[in-house]
Amino acid sequence: MKYIGAHVSASGGVENAPLNASEIDAKAFAFFTKNQRQWYANPLTFEPVQKFKENCKTKNFSPDHILPHDSYLINLGNPDKSGLERSRTAFIDEMKRCMQLGLKYLNFHPGTHKKLIAENECLKLIAESINIALESTEGVTAVIENTAGQGGNVGDKFEHLAFLIEKVKDKSRIGVCLDTCHTFAAGYDMRTSQTYNHTMKAFGKIVGFKFLKALHLNDSKAKLGSHVDRHHNLGMGELGLEPFRLIMNDSRMDNIPLILETIDPNLWEKEIKMLYGFIE
Ligand SMILES: [Zn+2]
Ligand SMILES: [Zn+2]
Repeated sequence: MKYIGAHVSASGGVENAPLNASEIDAKAFAFFTKNQRQWYANPLTFEPVQKFKENCKTKNFSPDHILPHDSYLINLGNPDKSGLERSRTAFIDEMKRCMQLGLKYLNFHPGTHKKLIAENECLKLIAESINIALESTEGVTAVIENTAGQGGNVGDKFEHLAFLIEKVKDKSRIGVCLDTCHTFAAGYDMRTSQTYNHTMKAFGKIVGFKFLKALHLNDSKAKLGSHVDRHHNLGMGELGLEPFRLIMNDSRMDNIPLILETIDPNLWEKEIKMLYGFIE
């Protein structure tokens, strides 16, 4: 079974996210548990947490299909010591917010070396950051998102994801989210069944499907291997619709959250319908 949804707004309170997801007939959703552009957020209080859980229940969303996303400010591979500390503290806070909400995943971008340290050094810092976060929390799996490799961001190569997983001590709480736009911009084609199979075979071999916890479904404005991260609505970019048709008929993508982060939220309901219509 496929669980398709979108990254919905939680403005006005986390409890609104499941309601907004239900409005567009989503079976999964992503959201920010705090303002994604600010370092600090007030702790979640009892009432919104209870309401969030109630709304998930009444609208039929299970934690298996909810993928909170961390703040854009966090850089777990920050070469700057105080910047790294700040990021680690903020990341642990985000993990704890997920625990409070009864959620099991936290999706994050691995980090950037800002061209100040080597890729490898940056990856080591990130692995250390993940280990620290997992040791200070429980029950929440850290879900690394692959990147387009823009601006010193690591995580564009499947080998980077494998390296991080290898260095994380608790393998039961580490996973990966593949973003179709990022994958393509990173240089992995999937526009035909042949290239899709080739890319997925490489992912299976290098990372392993048991670590695949989610997908982000986005078309790409930028070209194959451009390392530019620009999302587009499905079928309107360089990817076209074929990769999404293939994903919908790939059983390895069953029972995980499949999240739209396409640029026009007004199209989400239509896109979700279209994706379900692709299932043969
Ligand atoms: Zn994404
Ligand atoms: Zn992106």
